[in-house]
Amino acid sequence: MKTYQIDKNGYYGKFGGAYIPEVLHQCVADLQGAYLQVLESDSFKQEYHQLLRDYVGRPSPLYYAKRLSDKYGAKIYLKREDLNHTGAHKINNTIGQILLAQRMGKKRIIAETGAGQHGVATATVCALMDMPCVVYMGETDIERQEPNVQKMKMLGATVIPVTSGNMTLKDATNEAIRDWCCHPSDTFYIIGSTVGPHPYPDLVARLQSVISEEIKWQLDEKEGRDYPDYLIACVGGGSNAAGTIYHYINDERVKIALGEAAGKGIDSGMSAATIQLGKEGIIHGARTLVMQNEDGQIEEPYSISAGLDYPGIGPIHAYLTNEGRSQVYAVDDQQAMDAVFELTSLEGIIPALESAHALGVLNEIKFQPDDIVVLTLSGRGDKDMETYIRVMNDEV
Ligand SMILES: *Cc1c(COP(=O)(O)O)cnc(C)c1O
Repeated sequence: MKTYQIDKNGYYGKFGGAYIPEVLHQCVADLQGAYLQVLESDSFKQEYHQLLRDYVGRPSPLYYAKRLSDKYGAKIYLKREDLNHTGAHKINNTIGQILLAQRMGKKRIIAETGAGQHGVATATVCALMDMPCVVYMGETDIERQEPNVQKMKMLGATVIPVTSGNMTLKDATNEAIRDWCCHPSDTFYIIGSTVGPHPYPDLVARLQSVISEEIKWQLDEKEGRDYPDYLIACVGGGSNAAGTIYHYINDERVKIALGEAAGKGIDSGMSAATIQLGKEGIIHGARTLVMQNEDGQIEEPYSISAGLDYPGIGPIHAYLTNEGRSQVYAVDDQQAMDAVFELTSLEGIIPALESAHALGVLNEIKFQPDDIVVLTLSGRGDKDMETYIRVMNDEV
């Protein structure tokens, strides 16, 4: 049988790997050597699942969205990651990585953040585990995500402004890697998505795979079969999507549809549609698709949604799309915004702007009436209220 899993060298086909500076070689090798053993140990599993249940609030509900279903002519279920503690799926990953850091004897946590959601999820688990936390964040993002910056500080993290490049997520990631190079032995770098050098893409996918593990039994309970016809998710770096599809990747009955950010339009020069526009290259330690110009310089991505605004993509998604296993749709700012207000009025759920890029995919597929669709609602809209208020006031 064909498998889409990572190989022993950390590649999905030609994508992935670990392209790292020499000073990180030992600590990345240690992590590669330790992560599977730790994740599969009884002590880890017990603590991880207990925290997911009692601290995060899992299992997250699988909600049958009746009015949304009527509108699109299929049976649509929403996987409610928006109901997790801290408001998104990111906490599934940070809890797992901090437990791994502790078991590897690390004393200090660093992270990068764009919109601040991963920074908040990391600062949260550092408070919980009483570990020092440094979060790198671009100056531009610090200005536009003030509430998340204040949350991280309140949680005890040190937020370091990054003033290189465009002063956004890519630059914050560069700084975090630089810090890691200076402190490779005592510091654990908690990466927020299925990106970075091997083993991070696989580590993060495994920690988020609880999403599809739950979908299986929840769907079986509700529909008498444990697989849907379609899985839909948004992709920034690709972690909520990887978790959503993880246990279905080799099940060809299940179609995978992903929404990436087309910004002001896929041909506008202002988008973050990396899978469709990117070319093979290396970014932050992995070979993947990268938004770059003819000289190989990284192009600045743009999306109304700060969480999707990344010029790379998890190698797993570069591979699955190349193989024809996933279909990727470009959803632009306006379509995402329309989806926000549609879900709010039909279901009484205000989604995050990122998640609205998954909802936007519903318009792109011709469903049969008995199709079962599971769409992951990756986060809630609280952090985006300022943007939504401007739309309601006709200011954008
Ligand atoms: C960070 C974020 C994303 C994008 O990250 P992925 O790794 O692609 O999942 C999507 N939705 C929300 C709510 C986020 O906070």
